[in-house]
Amino acid sequence: MQYRTLGGTQLSVSIIGFGASPLGDVFGATDPSEAKRAVHLAIDEGINLFDVSPYYGLTLAEERLGQALQGRRNKVILATKCGRYGVDSFDFSASRVVSSMNESLQRLRTDYVDLLQVHDVEFGNVEQIIQETIPAMRRLQEQGKARYIGITGYPLKPLIRIAEAVPIDSILTYCRYNLLIDDMDSVLMPVAEKRGIGVINASGLHMGILTEHGAPDWHPAPREVREAGRRAAEFCRTHGVDLSAMALRYCFDHPRVAGTLVGMSKTEHVRRNLQALATSTDPEILHQVRAILAPAFNQVWSSGHRENHD
Ligand code: NAD
Repeated sequence: MQYRTLGGTQLSVSIIGFGASPLGDVFGATDPSEAKRAVHLAIDEGINLFDVSPYYGLTLAEERLGQALQGRRNKVILATKCGRYGVDSFDFSASRVVSSMNESLQRLRTDYVDLLQVHDVEFGNVEQIIQETIPAMRRLQEQGKARYIGITGYPLKPLIRIAEAVPIDSILTYCRYNLLIDDMDSVLMPVAEKRGIGVINASGLHMGILTEHGAPDWHPAPREVREAGRRAAEFCRTHGVDLSAMALRYCFDHPRVAGTLVGMSKTEHVRRNLQALATSTDPEILHQVRAILAPAFNQVWSSGHRENHD
């Protein structure tokens, strides 16, 4: 396993991170015993970055991850979030940051997290996040409940606005750098690097689009993007290539991303995604897959308040 330092922190994270949202049944029902085995296998194989949120499965993912980490907490870099609690339920106030942290710690069966992140800043008031949410998180850091603090979201504009206004340790963005899009690299990365902020890339499979199974029904991407993914999967199938492995390999190869989070709840996926680390992609196949995805490349959707859209 390769590890990279997350920005200016002392966290050395595996380049493949365990996205725990599927533990909250976000991508369909999960077998809790199998999910626990997946967590254990990932740890045994050197994956140390685990990312979760109270939002995933409305606390179910944190609860299951906390159970799975019992006795193994000290082997992982544990990241959770605050601010988002449901599809339409947000609270970025200082008092909720504090209660949310305490509730997460209970569910995760620990007394600190390595990274506490504001979840989906685009649904908040950016000024409130700068002036109230982040200072409250810094106080939790002073109390030893969170080692570092960061922000997450989909549109890049509010992430950049916050990063330029207040010191933060990390930025997590999703569906902004993979075979279907690259603006994380051109737009966000220079801002983060200038300030020594670590970058975590999530959803290298574009939340399921770059998989054989395809996107879940709730996927927000325009139809053209989902169809391009289906065509790429079909092409890979006929050429005996694993589209997911190729898509992940592409993300792992970004040298300045600390970790790429992949949503996993099955041992089979952990194994296959670890294999993706060890395999190289045939450049000709990659070229052809990129040509298939080209009509859908860099297409984004809107998320959050209008003033926060890119
Ligand atoms: P993803 O792109 O990682 O796709 C996950 C889907 O792919 C799941 O259905 C999973 O079962 C499937 N999958 C995983 N490995 C596979 C394989 N080898 N073959 C076929 N299918 C495979 O999307 P994601 O889970 O949304 O993102 C990864 C993680 O990033 C999340 O779990 C979460 O921790 C984090 N994330 C955070 C935010 C945020 O903070 N705002 C947003 C999105 C994602």
